Amino acid sequence: MARLFATLRPWTNAVENRLIEMKRLALAISVALVSVAPLGAQERVDLLLHGGKIFSADEQLSTYSAVAVLDGRIVALGPDELRSRYQATRTVDLGGKLVVPGFIDTHIHISGDAARWVDLSGLEDLAALKARVTRKAEQLGSGEWITGYGWSEDELTEQRRPLRWDLDDAAPVNPVVLTRAGGHSSVANSLALDAAGLTPETDVLPGAIIEVDGDGRMNGILREGAQGLVSRLVPDPNPTELRDSFVQNLRDLLSLGITGIIQAGVGGRGFENWEEVYAEHRGELPRAAVQIRVRGPAERAIETLSRFGRKTGDGDEWLRVGPVKFFVDGGYTGAAAWTLQPYKGQSDYFGTGALIDEDGMYRMSKAAHEMGWQMGFHTIGDAAIKMTVDVWARVISESPRVDHRHYLNHFTVRPPVETMETMALHNIHIAQQPNFTYTLEGRYAEHLEGERYRTNNPLRSPMNLGVFVALGSDILPIGPMVGLYAAVTRRGLSGAVVGAGEALTMPEAIVGYTRLAAHLTFEEDIKGSLKVGKLADMVVLSQDLLTIDPERTLDTQVEMTILDGSVVYER
Ligand SMILES: [Zn+2]
Repeated sequence: MARLFATLRPWTNAVENRLIEMKRLALAISVALVSVAPLGAQERVDLLLHGGKIFSADEQLSTYSAVAVLDGRIVALGPDELRSRYQATRTVDLGGKLVVPGFIDTHIHISGDAARWVDLSGLEDLAALKARVTRKAEQLGSGEWITGYGWSEDELTEQRRPLRWDLDDAAPVNPVVLTRAGGHSSVANSLALDAAGLTPETDVLPGAIIEVDGDGRMNGILREGAQGLVSRLVPDPNPTELRDSFVQNLRDLLSLGITGIIQAGVGGRGFENWEEVYAEHRGELPRAAVQIRVRGPAERAIETLSRFGRKTGDGDEWLRVGPVKFFVDGGYTGAAAWTLQPYKGQSDYFGTGALIDEDGMYRMSKAAHEMGWQMGFHTIGDAAIKMTVDVWARVISESPRVDHRHYLNHFTVRPPVETMETMALHNIHIAQQPNFTYTLEGRYAEHLEGERYRTNNPLRSPMNLGVFVALGSDILPIGPMVGLYAAVTRRGLSGAVVGAGEALTMPEAIVGYTRLAAHLTFEEDIKGSLKVGKLADMVVLSQDLLTIDPERTLDTQVEMTILDGSVVYER
């Protein structure tokens, strides 16, 4: 664990250290007061968990047997004897089970789903995918658009993508467009392609691709910007159906042990929707920080931020404004990530390049930084990472700002060591998705090779250089278990180990998904670890992640989720 502490040091400046010391002192005093409470006179609390292994994820990685909660806050942590000190409205005997702080997913996308939408995650084969589309077509009737999200050829027994003809077969009288997991490509059927008037010759923007097969026929696959040519034809769902399913999708996160999220980007009126939902359902949904997405060119992005009227941190412990989101490059599911080395087997292909030039990136970043925004930009290829870090280092040097906590989303292709050293020097953090190593194994194997493949989505090497790494899922899939599993085992979907040198220990991975995640939203004082005075967001797990064989991580169930001191989910 010493190594983990060492890696935290670079971003903890002297002021923070002083604050932490003061807080420790205050805590010590409050703990002392609790311990001298008169025996026999039991104090009332709302909730008492005892007889378990309570992993605090604090700086010392302390563990306890019991925890007491009052008014949404932790009031005591200690040995099982806490039972005699407190009289609880609800007492839970943990039966030896592990309790961890509520998971905080630092990169997630939650929205409402239209009635025409089909969930395509976790499918076994193409027959299952087609069956879901056929069932939806029967529900909606002929002519209605069908949309969906979450298919991945890596999960399908056939190990190939669904193509136009598969969808024609499944829904011959409905236009269909289904987005791949990750969102960088879609597949459309013939009716959808016809409706959009697409041909193999259709002009597309740079980076967008309408795929054709060996015979020159469109196979239905639309990559990056080409997806919009079809998706813009899909009629808007009605607001009520969207709102209801949005709330349900947020609520469902609690069953996965997720009590906090960073929504990785909303645009336009997006944040107002979140405010309306959280005003109505305060206390029932995971705590959220919402990234505000801006688009280029730089002047337009700056205008959006100035007009927004609020900035990072505004809000409360349930809902607040998160960092600015900007896409610096594309991704690997669409083979668009901007890289310093050519793609495997394509000596002159470096992805589709940057979505903004370096000067525009500088003007936009400088303005956002000086307005007081935190930045959390999408960077997947090492060229995108390097350019962003170079620009931010310049901005931070020119306009020093204590504790900006700017970070890179994804960080998939490990950049040169000097880039990571610059990040450590300027406190530029990472919101990493270890589950990409697992779920997107096939994509990386196709496009990366050698050391660049083995170090995909690096964890250990940036940490060793003093870069701060928090974890999240980017919904591939939603839920922390795949991320914890991949962070610790570095296994891909096939079971092969990819770059064992980048693995974390399980305690480090849990800390990355809890305490370090809270740090990304400036909320480490109130959540992310279990301490007296902090918010009582906790999860009871079916097995002890800290002692089981990490290979069994994926079998772990969430038994109970506690949010703000209330039990909000029980298996
Ligand atoms: Zn994302």
